Amino acid sequence: MEVCRCNAVKSVIVVGAGVIGLLTAYFLRQHGLDVIVVDSESGPAQGASYGNGGYLQTAVTDPWNAPGVVQLFAKAWLNGLSGRGDNSAFLTRTSALPGLLGWGLKFLKHANLQTYLSHTVKNMHLAQYSVRLIKKIAGQESISFSQSDAGALIIYKDEKGLSGYADIAKHVAEKGSRFELLDRDALLQKEPSLRSIAEELVGAVYFPDDYAGNCREFCEQLVTVMERQGVEFEFNRRVSGISSNGNAVDVRTDSGRHVADAVVVAAGNFSKQLIRPLGVKLPIAPAKGFSISVPMGDWPDRPRHTIVDMSQHAGVNPLGDVLRVAGAAEFAGMKPGIGKARIEYLVGLVKELFAEFADTIEGETCDPWGGHRPLSADGLPMVSATHIDNVFVNTGHGGMGWSQSAGSGKALADLIAGIAPEFGLSDFSIERFN
Ligand SMILES: Cc1cc2nc3c(=O)[nH]c(=O)nc-3n(C[C@H](O)[C@H](O)[C@H](O)COP(=O)(O)OP(=O)(O)OC[C@H]3O[C@@H](n4cnc5c(N)ncnc54)[C@H](O)[C@@H]3O)c2cc1C
Repeated sequence: MEVCRCNAVKSVIVVGAGVIGLLTAYFLRQHGLDVIVVDSESGPAQGASYGNGGYLQTAVTDPWNAPGVVQLFAKAWLNGLSGRGDNSAFLTRTSALPGLLGWGLKFLKHANLQTYLSHTVKNMHLAQYSVRLIKKIAGQESISFSQSDAGALIIYKDEKGLSGYADIAKHVAEKGSRFELLDRDALLQKEPSLRSIAEELVGAVYFPDDYAGNCREFCEQLVTVMERQGVEFEFNRRVSGISSNGNAVDVRTDSGRHVADAVVVAAGNFSKQLIRPLGVKLPIAPAKGFSISVPMGDWPDRPRHTIVDMSQHAGVNPLGDVLRVAGAAEFAGMKPGIGKARIEYLVGLVKELFAEFADTIEGETCDPWGGHRPLSADGLPMVSATHIDNVFVNTGHGGMGWSQSAGSGKALADLIAGIAPEFGLSDFSIERFN
């Protein structure tokens, strides 16, 4: 078990008001600590937590560096070169390659079957713990976030793909999750909204324990709850530097400084540059993705489940009255925003599933959004002490941050407060990269 490298901690600064920072702060406050959350944006969940897919995964939480990812990367680079990249699921811009080199070598080193399966199971246990906590917090604090317990369908249009995925689902089921393999008829019975593409489908893997909900709604309401509970928030404050003298940390912002017993860096992709001057290296790279949120209006046959279409590497999720459509992975640096071509790409994804409904979409009015997943080099998050006393990190959750947020926050808060974590963090320590 990890041991806290700090004296009794009474006060903590959390850098970042994304879902990871907020849930860390929540549990620190539950332990009675004084907590200040600092974020450079004007409110919570303005980074990767803003418009994510809303999928709370609890079974196949697999890292992106699956065996064969080299070919995928090569394809992504060719997509970038061809100029048609904005229409493809994967894209790497040549200009981003130099910045990806060190991270990319580590990423590829972990792309073997043994690591892939073992990290999937580690991620799964963290996500299961986490989703249990999210439900508990929502109940205790009366947070309503368009949540759904209908479960998730991972749909396939080819037999080979479906049976390969079912093998992985079976492997993780042996370690403590549930799934059902559905043929086409069973799939259509469960999700009649897919009837218009019945002929193309071969079946699906159904995860009955997967959950869904709007991450931003959750974060916004959690901030209100935490303010009542005494957590302080400082928005529009960029943290520019962090130091520790062994007893206390000094956190400098663009308009002042804070001294506290400890700091948690939960600044998503920016964590890397914030903590590098302390000699802490975080192998994280930004993987940009996109979403639109389409009002479903009076659509009679609207989908009930989270649906991941593996032929498109993208998902749709009914979150309340809105269909969240999310997908794509771009390695192209930290450029914000979303272009017209990407919006068309997302509308095209809906067309593949629900052609009639897609015709009614006016993409540019559907809250088009682009955000950067903080992707770790080995597919596991970094929830950890560092070699600097009182300095902690909670980042690198990639495409699973919403699913793993509460578990990561609670386990790290336990560690900082000197309470034996219910969930051991040794698999998520940054020591693994040394
Ligand atoms: C398209 C897409 C779809 C996704 N779908 C899912 C999904 O379905 N399920 C799932 O589990 N996960 C999903 N994810 C992943 C998930 O959204 C992220 O892993 C998660 O939001 C990361 O949260 P975070 O708090 O680490 O980062 P962020 O939300 O980016 O928060 C970091 C915060 O730090 C602040 N910050 C940065 N630098 C500084 C500084 N110097 N000073 C002060 N503040 C600073 C930023 O303003 C930001 O608010 C998806 C991501 C994307 C992009």
